[in-house]
Amino acid sequence: MRRRAVRHRKCQVAGCGRDVHSRGYCASHYRQLLRGTVPSRPIRERGKGEKPVLAVRLPGSLISTMDRQLRKVGLSRAELLEQLVSRWVRRLAH
Ligand SMILES: [Zn+2]
Repeated sequence: MRRRAVRHRKCQVAGCGRDVHSRGYCASHYRQLLRGTVPSRPIRERGKGEKPVLAVRLPGSLISTMDRQLRKVGLSRAELLEQLVSRWVRRLAH
């Protein structure tokens, strides 16, 4: 049996291309897995003027409902916020 080149294995998420960190995933996708999200999409590169915004306090019941729905659709909280904000901005632009 041929040995696999373990050092150069790539993350199993389609389109990711990062080196494997653990259990077939890169470090970022492995962290998603530990948080209870099934990793399915490539990690976006930082840059292009991106900055962190907001640290919002929400009611606990709202947070648990939000997280349950996010798990179903495989989005992170940050991705949800990004989608909501960009939709809203696009709507205002018309
Ligand atoms: Zn990955």
